[in-house]
Amino acid sequence: MNVRSSRTHIFLSTTGIFVLLSAILFFVWRVVEIPKEYLDETLLGISFFAVALITVTFYQSMKIYDSANVIAKNITEDFLQYSHELFTELYRSSPVPYVVINPVGKVVSMNTATARLFHTELNALEGIDIFSFFKNDESHKAALVPEYFKEGKSVSDVELEIQLPDETKRWVLLSLFSFKEAGGEKRGLLTLVDITKQKMIDKAKTEFVSLASHQLRTPISGMKWNIELLLTAGKDKFEDIHKAYIEKISGGVDRMEVLINDFLSASKFELGTLEPEYSDIQVFDFLLKVHDELVGMAEEKNIRIETDFGPNLGKINTDPHMFRTIVSNLMSNAIKYTPADGVVGLNVQQNTENVTIKISDTGIGIPQEDQEMIFSKMFRASNARTKVTDGTGLGLYIVKESVAVLGGTISFVSEQDKGTEFTVILPA
Ligand code: ADP
Repeated sequence: MNVRSSRTHIFLSTTGIFVLLSAILFFVWRVVEIPKEYLDETLLGISFFAVALITVTFYQSMKIYDSANVIAKNITEDFLQYSHELFTELYRSSPVPYVVINPVGKVVSMNTATARLFHTELNALEGIDIFSFFKNDESHKAALVPEYFKEGKSVSDVELEIQLPDETKRWVLLSLFSFKEAGGEKRGLLTLVDITKQKMIDKAKTEFVSLASHQLRTPISGMKWNIELLLTAGKDKFEDIHKAYIEKISGGVDRMEVLINDFLSASKFELGTLEPEYSDIQVFDFLLKVHDELVGMAEEKNIRIETDFGPNLGKINTDPHMFRTIVSNLMSNAIKYTPADGVVGLNVQQNTENVTIKISDTGIGIPQEDQEMIFSKMFRASNARTKVTDGTGLGLYIVKESVAVLGGTISFVSEQDKGTEFTVILPA
């Protein structure tokens, strides 16, 4: 109600009260027969005065009520105005780049930090599709963001590379959620935190690991070669105790070689420099060889390996080195994380489109709370850290990356203290 209509309202209701009370008084005086000794002119005058007083009091209360309403309304408006200005100022001058987009991804507004990030003037991107700046990679994250937005899902902390209008590239940590404007229109709020520097530092570190691992391979090969020579030359000369020492050294060098190869592979995946080299392999022969290489490791713990090779195993076109890494890592993990006398299963099936490999065990399992992180680089589950101390947490990361490069999928089910089953599906 505005001020004018509120005043009319007060005037009308006061007049109404006055007329009503006067009418009651008139009715009592003229219509109801009241004896003269109870109602003389003086009493009538006093009554009329009372009616006038009540009306004035009513009028004043209405005015106070009205003023209170006006003050409350003004305070609310001032507060809203203040909040709006505060929010606009925070949005505009925040160091975090913010972009508001419409339902199809076109920029509605952006703040100064966004203009700085994109090397443009403020609001220069208005009406431009924000998703057109995202660079796609093999993980297709950039393509997933607009789809998630369309479905009303939030996106948080996704690392993406963007190509700016001046062709330069930056890495950003992107979050996006949708909201409704006061008018009811759907909007999206994007935050784009520039992480290019951190990415460069990460890359430099990875390059260092890659270089160092590469350089370490030559002396390791030399050591292995000399151990071989030493064992052959001393076959009849060394005592058993000396041979045992040399065997220990040999075991240590082998472990070091595995470690260095893992570091090298992980850094190559991270740098994106690992290109698959495809050739045809016979699935049965290939996997039987991997199986045979691991039988010794299983026998040491009296673990039985149960194989189930499907009837249609034939050729597949894949990168043999990566294929071997996948199966060998999963099988050796299954043996490593299964206590003595357990069972490890290798089930392989093939159809015209793909080959499915299931590797199961009756081992320690992966605790529920660790399952989400299990493919992360250098992550080891809590039970593995205490029960099997030997491990780097690189194997599953390499397996996951190899599967992705070969265009396949990997999943697992696991229950602590019961066992684990990994399923890998690769194109045939
Ligand atoms: P690690 O060198 O520690 O074996 P991986 O990358 O191969 O590294 O595996 C990462 C972690 O995943 C392991 O430390 C372990 O916690 C868990 N894990 C992998 N395979 C199994 C399995 N078959 N059973 C139980 N835990 C497993």
